[in-house]
Amino acid sequence: MAGVCFEAVGKTFGGSVHAVRDLSLDIPDGEFMVLVGPSGSGKTTALRMLAGLESVTTGSIAIGERVVNTMAPRERDIAMVFQDYALYPQWSVFDNLAFGLRRRKVPRDEISRRVNEAARVLDLEPYLQRRPGQLSGGQAQRVALGRALVREPQVFLMDEPLSNLDAKLRTQTRGEIRRLQQEVRTTTVYVTHDQVEAMTMGDRIAVMNHGLLEQVGTPEQLYEQPANRFVAGFIGSPAMSFIEARSVASVLGSADVPEGAVVGVRPEHARPWREGLIGPLRGTVAFVEALGRETFVGVDVGDTRLVVFEEGRATRDVGEEIEFGLVHSGLRYFDAETGAAR
Ligand code: ATP
Repeated sequence: MAGVCFEAVGKTFGGSVHAVRDLSLDIPDGEFMVLVGPSGSGKTTALRMLAGLESVTTGSIAIGERVVNTMAPRERDIAMVFQDYALYPQWSVFDNLAFGLRRRKVPRDEISRRVNEAARVLDLEPYLQRRPGQLSGGQAQRVALGRALVREPQVFLMDEPLSNLDAKLRTQTRGEIRRLQQEVRTTTVYVTHDQVEAMTMGDRIAVMNHGLLEQVGTPEQLYEQPANRFVAGFIGSPAMSFIEARSVASVLGSADVPEGAVVGVRPEHARPWREGLIGPLRGTVAFVEALGRETFVGVDVGDTRLVVFEEGRATRDVGEEIEFGLVHSGLRYFDAETGAAR
């Protein structure tokens, strides 16, 4: 097994598109690292450079001790899982799993051992003799994972492998991939644009934006101590709201509010008014999202919109006035100009 190290890696397309800028990221052996960010942030390009499907423009990439910059993909000892997992429809699941190993002239006994082991880990044992057309979408996706697994590579690379599955299956397969990785402990780099997927799967998460690494940390670190406004707004759902410090200075007390700061508030830290909170603040209900056990209420305060969290099923009307308060320990401050946490 091996870790992965990006060192000051840059990728430019056609001289002017900076897809990845100065990426330095150390992924220890056995870690499940998620690259997350909006569309166009450079995640796929970073993964493709690691796979050897794209050259690096500057910097270097190492897998274990070996710098792989000029190494062909098949020499890198990696296995990839993509969103589109073309299985051979006329072959059994066993043959689909065995195909890559046969091509590499792995001995029969060894193929059988690895395929059966992958089938065990992925709960595919009952389906080994079926054809892909006789499988559910989730089972077929597990076969695609199995093909990567039987390779027993140094590193798994996954690019949005779940985006073709429906919501329920996605949640389930997410758990399966996570469990699988914990069992085999193979270093994994997983690309997604979905922050929930990132937060539930990653040991650590690297947040990318415009080709730049904004922050890397555990899910908890990103949630509790976002390095900047971008990460704060990207991680968490509903998203953190931002208010000009001066519009809440009257309730926060000026000593508490850094000059030129923006205050970040997550929904769970904005509650209907009661003693002990900071406030009261007043606003107008802009939307109500009742989820059963909890309700998110969008509230307009001046030209800022916040989300207020209420326990249970709140009955509020759009346009109604609402009084709410903020939980002091939950407030985060960001520089109004640079967005950096303060
Ligand atoms: P998505 O989630 O939409 O796939 P991403 O974060 O994976 O986004 P990339 O696919 O890595 O982003 O793209 C990063 C930037 O590089 C984008 O601006 C994209 O248009 C550009 N880009 C990617 N591949 C090429 C290419 N082959 N030629 C030119 N530009 C490219």
